Amino acid sequence: MSHPIPAPALARTPEELGRLRSRLGRVALVPTMGALHNGHRSLIAAAREHADAVVVSVFVNPLQFGPGEDYERYPRDLDADLAVCAEEGVALVFAPSVEDMYPGEQIVRVDPGPMGAVLEGASRPGFFGGVLTVVNKLFNLVRPDIAVFGQKDAQQLALVRRMVRDLNMPVTVVAAPTMRDPDNLASSSRNAYLSPEERRSALALSRALLAGADASVTGPVGILSAARAVLDEAAQATPPVSVDYLALVDAGTFTEVAADHRGDAVLLVAAWVGRTRLIDNVPLTL
Ligand code: AMP
Repeated sequence: MSHPIPAPALARTPEELGRLRSRLGRVALVPTMGALHNGHRSLIAAAREHADAVVVSVFVNPLQFGPGEDYERYPRDLDADLAVCAEEGVALVFAPSVEDMYPGEQIVRVDPGPMGAVLEGASRPGFFGGVLTVVNKLFNLVRPDIAVFGQKDAQQLALVRRMVRDLNMPVTVVAAPTMRDPDNLASSSRNAYLSPEERRSALALSRALLAGADASVTGPVGILSAARAVLDEAAQATPPVSVDYLALVDAGTFTEVAADHRGDAVLLVAAWVGRTRLIDNVPLTL
């Protein structure tokens, strides 16, 4: 006999969330913007290991999108997300409206500091202030014991860890490794934007990271030039890959490592393929 999968409870407002949250014990929160894929599933699986109940938030946060970015066209499908959450044994989905999350102007915000101004923060001004502000709000609303974030968004993960530490937030942050599609492209809701040709070009990102990782023993200069060679070739492909940044950074501070650096580091890439901006990274030990 197969048992029907129990649907997760759905809270559409902070008030509903408050009522449903009080019935749950130790909670692990997985914050998402929906359009759930394998990466989100693995975060939910990690969350299940750390708590009695998993809460998934689904909220496309306007505060973290800049003018001209993809806020309007970002994929939204709550029914599909609920089906994924049911399959993954999620207890509660919190999917608030923009009006519920931001009933007035959001005047007080979290300042991410210098780590939020480089790399993703330099390319997307205001992005990390928007991310940390909504994560802070979600923590206050859900009151999780654990919160799970993906290594895919490495700078975001580092900044959330830093916020929790610097602001003494009573949450334990758990990181989950990057999940990839069978062709090695890092799973992302934004992959849905790619045409088959764009997707083929986009595979240069993971190839570049792999080439960099293979050159680990040569140190920072060798790693960066091995990855750069792959990206230079991809710049000539059809459609072309247009690199925003390639960087090798300290995982805690996101400052670029010195040429004689040894120990842990993260190799990061951000690039445009057509109208789609993609990011990927690989943690390395030099
Ligand atoms: P998003 O819905 O894109 O805002 O992502 C929600 C969470 O899922 C973040 O913590 C991301 O880092 C994580 N995530 C997104 N893609 C992946 C992936 N391919 N592997 C692991 N985690 C991911």
